[in-house]
Amino acid sequence: MGRSQAVRHKTEKRGMMPIPPAIREYVLERDHHKCVICGAEAEEVHHIFSRNSWIPEYLGVPHIKKNMHPWNLVSLCKKHHKYIHDHGMRQGMKEVLVETNKNLSYLHFNEELEKKVEKELEKLKGKI
Ligand SMILES: [Zn+2]
Ligand SMILES: [Zn+2]
Repeated sequence: MGRSQAVRHKTEKRGMMPIPPAIREYVLERDHHKCVICGAEAEEVHHIFSRNSWIPEYLGVPHIKKNMHPWNLVSLCKKHHKYIHDHGMRQGMKEVLVETNKNLSYLHFNEELEKKVEKELEKLKGKI
């Protein structure tokens, strides 16, 4: 990455909308605060399909501002978060992760937190 590119990347990062705390907490709890790849402690939450990308319709992920729906988010350790941003993820793997998140959500592991998430999602609905 050239110098000017690196600077631009940093600026974009600074301007990025953070994941709402309730959604972040929900995702980490769902994943037991563990990296979904290696099981190490997860400190970071990653967008499976990136913030501005199109999520395949058949996956049924509701349209939410910046793709912030918990079905599209996974917990990762620092190492694997960096790895995925450097190398990308196979298309098939993204879809498997979304399907896993959907299945886990039907278990309703924390209804109180789910209510908070629903409120956040309501605010983000229909926005880009
Ligand atoms: Zn990991
Ligand atoms: Zn990420």
